[in-house]
Amino acid sequence: MQERMNELIDIINEADYNYHTLDNPTITDQEYDKYLRELFEIEEAHPEWIRDDSPTQHAGGKIIEGFEKVTHKIPMMSLSDVFSEQELISFNDRIEKEGIHPKYMCELKIDGLSVSLLYEKGKLVRAATRGDGTVGEDITHNVKTIKVIPLKLKEEVDIEVRGEIFMNKKTLEELNKKRKEKGEPLLQNCRNAAAGSIRQLDSKIAAKRKLDNFIYHLPNPLDYGLNTHEEAINYMKKLGFKINPNNRLVNNMKEAIEFIEEKGKIRDSLPYDIDGVVIKVNDIRQQQKLGYTAKYPKWATAYKFPAVEVLTKLTDIIFTVGRTGQITPNAVLEPVIVAGSTISRATLHNEEYVKEKDLKIGDIVSIRKAGDVIPEVVEVKKERRTGKEKDFVMIEECPMCHTKLVKKEGQVDYYCPNEKCPARHIEGLIHFVSRDAMNIDGLGDRIMEDFYNFGFIGNIADIYSLKQHEKDLIRLEGYGDKSVSNLLDAIENSKQNSLERLIFALGIPHVGSKTARILAQHFKTMNSFEKATEEELVSIPDIGGIIAKSIINYFSNDHNKAIVEELKDLGINMNYLGQDIEENEDFTGKTFVLTGSLQIYTRDEASEKIESLGGKTANSVSKKTSVVIVGANPGSKYRKAQELGIEIWTEEEFQEKIS
Ligand SMILES: [Zn+2]
Repeated sequence: MQERMNELIDIINEADYNYHTLDNPTITDQEYDKYLRELFEIEEAHPEWIRDDSPTQHAGGKIIEGFEKVTHKIPMMSLSDVFSEQELISFNDRIEKEGIHPKYMCELKIDGLSVSLLYEKGKLVRAATRGDGTVGEDITHNVKTIKVIPLKLKEEVDIEVRGEIFMNKKTLEELNKKRKEKGEPLLQNCRNAAAGSIRQLDSKIAAKRKLDNFIYHLPNPLDYGLNTHEEAINYMKKLGFKINPNNRLVNNMKEAIEFIEEKGKIRDSLPYDIDGVVIKVNDIRQQQKLGYTAKYPKWATAYKFPAVEVLTKLTDIIFTVGRTGQITPNAVLEPVIVAGSTISRATLHNEEYVKEKDLKIGDIVSIRKAGDVIPEVVEVKKERRTGKEKDFVMIEECPMCHTKLVKKEGQVDYYCPNEKCPARHIEGLIHFVSRDAMNIDGLGDRIMEDFYNFGFIGNIADIYSLKQHEKDLIRLEGYGDKSVSNLLDAIENSKQNSLERLIFALGIPHVGSKTARILAQHFKTMNSFEKATEEELVSIPDIGGIIAKSIINYFSNDHNKAIVEELKDLGINMNYLGQDIEENEDFTGKTFVLTGSLQIYTRDEASEKIESLGGKTANSVSKKTSVVIVGANPGSKYRKAQELGIEIWTEEEFQEKIS
């Protein structure tokens, strides 16, 4: 009977492969059901025989407590984004400058989530999310339910492959139809639906979501004797993976741009969402010669389709209160789908912005959204006005605590001056743990709100006492033993942060992360920082009168002083740990201006580098500027630098000087 079981596994796996991966059914549904039922019966009678690669494993059933962390042996890097033909030509120029004239593989950029699949002797042993690129989460139990992902390969190899898990448009439509019938909230778009399915603890739910997958990357093709990306793709296809049939190898960037134009036109008729096209150098040795920046491979880039603009109705303007008490008007919109997500809100920044755009409630407005960028209201369609629109009126009281709002001299924003305003409080807590502040992984906005509402966290110091609630936390939905212990570790580790993070985390108005770093470098300890006088503060380069006054004001408040004292008692590091500045003849004492869009570094990374070598960065070009670093599509700063005869570096030259 065990022999018959093995036979059935082979028959059904082959049928699944032909049906789901090749889209070429070889047996009837009745035959399929009959084989599957027979297999179920044998497995039920002999559970000790059940194999990991049995097709019955696709049905799910395994429930996990939380997601285990997984370290990627080869990091899963993201790609640099480009938005124009011009940027693609620059990308190609940089490669040709290295003496390389590559063929490119063009692939559709599916809007889903990346996955790493690990096989040992041809058996799927682990599936993981990208996470931050170095550490992801183990999602094996859910990935096993995806029928196009083979549990067993056609060869007994050890291999890691990467691809995209996504949901087809039609599947989302059917799912939402069922949810609507049950009165459940609808899933916004295919990507969110796929991500939500893969983050289920119970794999039965993921199994019902009918996710799909394309494989597009083999991290180490040379190890398998494969010399090009095309060969790697063909090899993975041979192993049983589903490969996107639209992939095309082209001879040069001109042909790649033609591919983009062609696919842009058929984008809406594809069965899945795409948000662009990925272009990769095909030859693996050429890829290796080009290498990587700190963040991206230099041999691949992602072209993103342009932003989509749509019309909708502005039904209301509501106000939110930020952590500094700042009041922001927000547009409430009739829900509309833009670039794959439903938009019902957009920030309107401040009163002047609303008046400048001349927005009235009831207006028809155009909305724009590109990629993950926050949606914005572009303009009012005045010709669509009916005369029934209502004028915008700025509020005078805080919407949360009804304190009269104040406007600071020379500023456009209104503030709620009530230090104890509940809106400010929760926002301040969220700011404290955020990435550039204390960077406590696992305490996202929603979790902070939960913990606040459950009464676990009322002030900053309570974050460091969360340990006392360990048992309660484990009982909360979605937090397993493991994730709670990871969270508590992250909180504990944050105590060792260097001073600049803490200064930024305190949320002193006008003290951003860059200013916090300057202050920490100057004062070295919290003790000398909190005692600083206004004269001392303004004598520091880049610290102006407004910042100095704001710091003095912060520490003159007894409540704030008490918080800092409490943090000291909790053992939080109060010293600057950064390295002292390295002397460097190209940088020390010089002033730099960055312009154009940088490809290799982010602006923050470039500034940080310059400062760590003793240089300064400024926003505008003047006679005092020493060097202007120019990225793609530079504007007026570049022209001004040329007029003034200031030294100009390309980003590559900058990279060479710092290495
Ligand atoms: Zn208030």
